[in-house]
Amino acid sequence: MVKAVTETTAIKLPRTSESETLKKIRHTTSHVMAMAVQRLFPKAQVTIGPWTETGFYYDFDSDRPFSEADLKAIKKEMIKIINQKLPVIREEVTRSEADHRIRAIQEPYKLEILDSIQEPITLYHLGDQWWDLCAGPHLDNTSQLNPKAIELESVAGAYWRGDSNKAQLQRIYGTAWETPEQLAEYKRRKEEALKRDHRKLGKELGLFIFADPVGPGLPLWTPKGTIVRTLLEDFLKQEQLKRSYLPVVTPHIARVDLFKTSGHWQKYKEDMFPLMADNSEAATLEQGFVLKPMNCPFHIQIYKSELRSYRDLPLRLAEFGTVYRYEQSGELGGLTRVRGFTVDDSHLFVTPEQLDSEFLNVVDLILSVFKRLQLKNFKARLSFRDPASDKYIGGDAAWEKAEGAIRRAVQALSMDYFEAPGEAAFYGPKLDFIFQDALEREWQLGTVQVDYNLPDRFDLEYTAPDGSRQRPVMIHRAPFGSLERLIGILIEEYAGDFPLWLAPIQVRLLPVSDEFVEYAQSVVTQMQGVGLRAEVDRSGERLGKMIRNAELQKIPVMAVIGAKEVESQTLSVRTRASGELGAIAVTEVIPKLQAVMEEQGSF
Ligand SMILES: [Zn+2]
Ligand SMILES: [Zn+2]
Repeated sequence: MVKAVTETTAIKLPRTSESETLKKIRHTTSHVMAMAVQRLFPKAQVTIGPWTETGFYYDFDSDRPFSEADLKAIKKEMIKIINQKLPVIREEVTRSEADHRIRAIQEPYKLEILDSIQEPITLYHLGDQWWDLCAGPHLDNTSQLNPKAIELESVAGAYWRGDSNKAQLQRIYGTAWETPEQLAEYKRRKEEALKRDHRKLGKELGLFIFADPVGPGLPLWTPKGTIVRTLLEDFLKQEQLKRSYLPVVTPHIARVDLFKTSGHWQKYKEDMFPLMADNSEAATLEQGFVLKPMNCPFHIQIYKSELRSYRDLPLRLAEFGTVYRYEQSGELGGLTRVRGFTVDDSHLFVTPEQLDSEFLNVVDLILSVFKRLQLKNFKARLSFRDPASDKYIGGDAAWEKAEGAIRRAVQALSMDYFEAPGEAAFYGPKLDFIFQDALEREWQLGTVQVDYNLPDRFDLEYTAPDGSRQRPVMIHRAPFGSLERLIGILIEEYAGDFPLWLAPIQVRLLPVSDEFVEYAQSVVTQMQGVGLRAEVDRSGERLGKMIRNAELQKIPVMAVIGAKEVESQTLSVRTRASGELGAIAVTEVIPKLQAVMEEQGSF
């Protein structure tokens, strides 16, 4: 339903990183929780307890896992502590004093934490009953917490320092807000997020599957999901044709040397699948083939295959290129993190003079893509390098020029942007589009990068008007980012209700009995003839059940066919967006659906 997409949330929820008040509330709540845990389970040891954007957690070393019942008891104990109105006292101590106090209470984890923190070393006390090492900030008194705005959410296993060779700990997740209303809104969104979860909806709507024999992080696209993918691809290909992009196709593997020249092998190796070597000698010499983690070096070879003149530029090569990255299996979840995915990739080879205008053209393309997908809420992140890090290739001058070009572009477009040092690709800075969905969650979508480095590494050239050899600049860009990720995000944003132009099945005809199936099929044939995706429900179920099934499949338009409809050559139309529309002539429904498709609206 369109309603679900545009529905605005009643309360805006602050994020911890943006609210000093929430930081204090969540720090203090987590300390109160840890104190409650140690009151109830004196053997439990406290490790770390940071805030998250929506709450906090604390890790405990406990001789047994905590249960749901334990969480209830802990919450009860927390309320007692809150009602005791304990002052929260900050104390600055020397390292040796902290060491001394920790040894006195026999909490070895705290000693390790002490080793890793810098001066000033501060303790936060809850009255004279409990303390922990912490940098703060905190509320002044436990009574400032509202028990009705606090919830303990779940328990999970976690490893000390995230290392599976170290002790297994019990992590309690909780959340705390300024008001009970905020907590209620947070819980509503959590529930809504579960309903919209693309892993769940993707299965229910039959869009994609994962199969254990294939492997984790490797989605298989079913016919319906493939329709959505293909529609997205076709749409972007049309947009690219209008903007003089040239299509190319490149293989999925290449010699590892290609990626040594590009720098991927040196800077990006852990994210690549291992080398395919013919024999052990080749393996030792690091010779052989690898699966491609990116498409850039392939497009560069196509550029290099001819002598290019300034008259050939800009050269815009585009490919829906499938790439493979070795994500840790623990990080794989649905479509947002996968090991094989298709990038709507393009590389633009431009003269330095063309850079600014080409960059603006790319941003314009990305904005038109977002408009078509009805993604309205986004901001631009300028992902620059962290000058102190060594994970980047290329000299300072090239980086400064590239970052300058991106900054000029967003300023010229008066876009809402922020700078994020340390987020650049290893070969160049990026402009990333961060999209905020209906539940105010943030996702990274399209990206544009300016690159002076790969043209250098591959010694790219073009002949300038004066006959001299010059270096082109590269723009890497992907409005969708990855098709897999985009579709995952769209499923959640639309809550499974694809707009008519993207719906895998647009119309389902429901004959009330078998005798009307033939007529229904003739209508479907007419619809298919004009490019509509229609089908007949041949299940023979009762009408109520057929309607329910079509609703579960979130099919935008259904049409009931009985004796009356056959006689009058009509359809009793029912849409997800507007409900019952009554009997409409077949000759009227079809053009109306076509018009809606063209406008990318809803019926
Ligand atoms: Zn704290
Ligand atoms: Zn690239």
